[in-house]
Amino acid sequence: SDHDLEYPASPADMDWSPLYPAYFPAPAEGPQRQVEVADIGCGYGGLLMELAPEFPDKLMLGMEIRVQVTQYVHEKILALRKQHKETGGYNNIAVLRGNAMKFLPNFFVKGQLSKMFFCFPDPHFKSRKHKARIITSTLSAEYAYVLRPGGIIYTITDVRDLHDWMVKHLHAHPSFQRLTKEEEAEDVCVRIMSEATEEGKKVGRNGGEKFVACYRRLED
Ligand code: SAM
Repeated sequence: SDHDLEYPASPADMDWSPLYPAYFPAPAEGPQRQVEVADIGCGYGGLLMELAPEFPDKLMLGMEIRVQVTQYVHEKILALRKQHKETGGYNNIAVLRGNAMKFLPNFFVKGQLSKMFFCFPDPHFKSRKHKARIITSTLSAEYAYVLRPGGIIYTITDVRDLHDWMVKHLHAHPSFQRLTKEEEAEDVCVRIMSEATEEGKKVGRNGGEKFVACYRRLED
């Protein structure tokens, strides 16, 4: 249940300083930054840790519902920051415990995000559990709201039925247009999400297939 979850009443009420102490309040040389990349259901955080040096100027947030997993990722990020103190590396990633299916608009204003990742989401195989899947018609509308025009939703799974489901729901939303295979091949994030997440590695070791679908947020 979510009764013990903490979340801000609105994005303006969110205090990001504990998560990104190097960026909040803004350093004297620069403007205030906003989180613009979200890894939904980030698990053990492998994706964030690979993305951190790839996009050192972007603030990126993992959202994870499991308490202990969130704590583990938080500590790992603190250790990485300490290890890279000289360069300031890994100050741009953080993890938050939260239910991404309920509270995204409490954290992000309209059009705030440029990238959202859904890597190996829980498949919820049984039909009666499909409504628990993290991409549905209702949630597609929410993701379209927090994503800016030109922003991209990245999905990857080893479960073909879930892949078809995510494609069906994102395709049905008028704000999303699927990237071509060529566009996917050119996007470094597609390679990283295929290789860097813990689930992606496991599937790779077991010789499983990975299904990718990415969608661009169109102008309203
Ligand atoms: N993305 C990671 C990876 O590829 O290794 C983890 C994949 S794991 C199969 C799915 C994760 O999503 C789990 O860690 C689970 O706790 C988390 N999760 C499930 N529902 C969620 C929700 N509503 N909000 C946030 N996280 C959620």
